[in-house]
Amino acid sequence: MGGDERLIAVLGHEVGHKLLGGCNTSVSEAFAEWLGAKALAAAGQRAAAKAKIERHIADFRAADPAGTALDIADEQTDIKQSPACQGKWIWILTELCGKYGDDLPARYLAALKENVHLSNPARKRVAGKEERLTMADHVQALSKAAGEDLTGWFRRLGITVDSTAKAKQRR
Ligand SMILES: [Zn+2]
Repeated sequence: MGGDERLIAVLGHEVGHKLLGGCNTSVSEAFAEWLGAKALAAAGQRAAAKAKIERHIADFRAADPAGTALDIADEQTDIKQSPACQGKWIWILTELCGKYGDDLPARYLAALKENVHLSNPARKRVAGKEERLTMADHVQALSKAAGEDLTGWFRRLGITVDSTAKAKQRR
């Protein structure tokens, strides 16, 4: 990557963190990397953007060839297999944009903000208290953006979609 490409990717990555947040480190890094790739593509660096996405998806497939094993929502998996988890979330975003349109992330953000009253993109305010977002918050907002319930699809990918148990462990 040249200097300009690197700068665009880094800026996109950091805007991704500010804008999209995430329920854990892997999801947050994945959103950031995905927006970094989007920024590259928007700047005309389509080959670099494609290569970035493909690198992450290769990390995911190396750890989870069938795509049904790696539970991104699991705290230990997030810590121990972060590159593969990031790749899986990037693959999920790529799949959902392919199926529901490239404007899905904008609809997702609008739905997320409507449901959880974000004070910070990685946290939500519930009954006056701040809490970390959960995988269920992401799935609920992605479902609203897609226009259909994606909970079953996420579960078939081996991802725990739970708004209570795991969220409580993290507090
Ligand atoms: Zn980052």
